[in-house]
Amino acid sequence: MAELRELYQQVILDHNRAPRNFRVLEDFNREAKGDNPLCGDKIAVQVRVEDGVIADIGFQGSGCAISKASTSLMTDAVKGMTIGDATKLFGRFHAMVTGQDRNPDRKTLGKLAAFGGVREFPARVKCASLAWHTLKAALEGAGQPVSTE
Ligand code: ZN
Repeated sequence: MAELRELYQQVILDHNRAPRNFRVLEDFNREAKGDNPLCGDKIAVQVRVEDGVIADIGFQGSGCAISKASTSLMTDAVKGMTIGDATKLFGRFHAMVTGQDRNPDRKTLGKLAAFGGVREFPARVKCASLAWHTLKAALEGAGQPVSTE
């Protein structure tokens, strides 16, 4: 178990150091901003949706390692997914980080399972889920900034 935890830590460190899709998307049709004042995490997510599929996604922002790595891993995970599948994945991720699902399906979650340990740190749950709430707002076209408060 300790080895697994170390592996997960590596995933988070890697994505914090070299975040994927960390760029302004030039050609997008959905956008939302997310704010976690408790920690100071701020992100902006742009999505290009084509025929109900997340064709491309980019993000900018600043925050702690957890929020940055989570946003990076999220963009990697949902790119190419239908909106329905991305919403389902958010449900699984949310259940994992909040501890509602104590035995998350690692196969479905893939690298996202790296955030399984977050449930031990309630203050960090918001850091890990900010990206997903922001994506949801973008896909729903709410246009309102998301705050975890
Ligand atoms: Zn944070």
